[in-house]
Amino acid sequence: MARVAFIGLGRMGHGMAGRYLDSGFTVAVWNRSKAKADDLIARGAHWATSPEDAAIDADAVVTMVADDAASREVWLTRDGAAATMKAGTIAIECSTVSYQHTQDMARELRGRGLIYIDSPVTGLPDAAAAGTLALLVGAEPADLEKARPYLLPIGTTIRHFGPVGSGTVYKLINNLMGAIQIAGLAEGLAMAEQAGLDMKLVLEAVETGVAASPQVIRHARRMAERNFAGATFTAALRHKDAAYAVALAESLLAPPPVMGRAVVEAYARAKAYAPDDNEGKLIEIVSRPK
Ligand code: NAP
Repeated sequence: MARVAFIGLGRMGHGMAGRYLDSGFTVAVWNRSKAKADDLIARGAHWATSPEDAAIDADAVVTMVADDAASREVWLTRDGAAATMKAGTIAIECSTVSYQHTQDMARELRGRGLIYIDSPVTGLPDAAAAGTLALLVGAEPADLEKARPYLLPIGTTIRHFGPVGSGTVYKLINNLMGAIQIAGLAEGLAMAEQAGLDMKLVLEAVETGVAASPQVIRHARRMAERNFAGATFTAALRHKDAAYAVALAESLLAPPPVMGRAVVEAYARAKAYAPDDNEGKLIEIVSRPK
């Protein structure tokens, strides 16, 4: 039975780890706060005392943590997973990290004889639990084939963009475009409210008009109703992704990324206001009347 070490059991990682259990893998789990592992342990997962402990005898190690700092911590610190991974073992980074981080990690882990691929995901926590994520992969083709058995339980779509880091490049572009749409929606709805428009009519027009992307449709009604139950994607994560995307844009494009910088500023405010709440709460900041 193939052995997976799964590290990071937050809103996304918890469901993904469960998919390996449901698919018959032997699963070792680790999370910074142990309570999030309790039901996975009851379902048959082995609790590891550290990432290093989880990685002993693993055929693949999968991480789903918040950001670059957390990723570095779980792979490379003194009790990080890389310390016990055997040469040739596959390291799969599902966290959304910066492009530079993927390059640094690839160098560090390859130097230890490990295979590193980036596979950030699109899809919300319900898709993570159902194994229906889209996986945005950066890997050498042969490495992707070795990793494929460990990707199939968590995703229904695998998009291979090119070498290591390219999955992350696309993920950051995708999330930057989404952030711009959400921030634009918040300002648009706030203006409609302050102008005294009939919000029922506004929502109907927004949801059926040319600006109605899936992202806009997902957020419009919830923003107008100030219904932010279930922090599926938080202001802190949105800010982090936008900041990583802007750093990438600045490395690729001569003109400054005006839109990108604007959403970094918008989400810096949303993060200061309510970091762990739903990103849609941005409307509470922008809708203050003049
Ligand atoms: P989350 O619920 O906040 O979970 C974050 C995870 O990272 C937790 O396991 C947390 O441990 C761990 N962590 C944070 N800092 C750490 C550190 N310094 N050392 C070790 N572990 C640390 O976030 P999430 O929504 O699952 O997102 C996880 C990743 O998926 C992020 O990169 C996010 O951008 C990406 N993503 C999220 C969504 C979404 O809809 N939520 C969709 C696509 C991609 P604790 O439990 O101990 O805090």
